Amino acid sequence: MPPATEIAAPAAQLSQTTPVFSPSDVTVVFVLGGPGAGKGTQCARLVAEQGFTHLSAGDLLREEQNRPGSQFGQLIKDYIKDGLIVPMEVTIKLLENAMTEALRQKGTTKGRFLIDGFPRKMDQAHKFEEAVCPAKLVLFFDCPEKVMEERLLERGKTSGRTDDNAESIRKRFRTFVETSMPVVNFYEGEGKVIKVDATPTPEDVFKTTNKLLTEKLAFPRGP
Ligand code: UDP
Ligand code: MG
Repeated sequence: MPPATEIAAPAAQLSQTTPVFSPSDVTVVFVLGGPGAGKGTQCARLVAEQGFTHLSAGDLLREEQNRPGSQFGQLIKDYIKDGLIVPMEVTIKLLENAMTEALRQKGTTKGRFLIDGFPRKMDQAHKFEEAVCPAKLVLFFDCPEKVMEERLLERGKTSGRTDDNAESIRKRFRTFVETSMPVVNFYEGEGKVIKVDATPTPEDVFKTTNKLLTEKLAFPRGP
């Protein structure tokens, strides 16, 4: 993790107009879907199968929240508990740092990233594409609230997450419908969305996802 001071100075970084990474070097796939839709589970499978690097915005925020000395710890904690979206400067900087670090570790400038649970709001989408890297595709896991609620309550028994309880779940659903679905719809309009029904078993969802993603990466405008 970088020192907080690097995250604390996003203005200069984020006001730049050239993205840090070029889409010819770096493939970015956003992974969206309601809370509990199975984004993290499917991403783990795609990493194993396709060699993506998986970056979960929520995990990065929780890590930063728990980092001793972080000036954003309390802010992140409050936003997550209430199912609200943390100010984008923090999340975008964490993602950019994680991408840089992953490429550095691999000793390369080329890579493929699954950015999970992000962007959840239109301003994040625009800013990330402008400052960090344009996105190639969006994987959207479509799941009814009833199913997601059951999964989250089950996960809440062991996850230790402060937001896997009935009240936070309600708030997260609301944020998803009001703020995050517009992002999915925007990318749908750009022809970048791969929509997958997330109700079947993880295995079945993965088979569909893997097939559709492989096809779409090879033929972005259709075969
Ligand atoms: N979050 C945020 N910005 C992001 C991603 C996540 O503020 O770009 C916060 C938000 O409060 C969200 C929480 O982190 O409800 C948990 O996100 P995560 O993706 O871990 O949850 P999931 O939807 O996968 O269950
Ligand atoms: Mg997740």
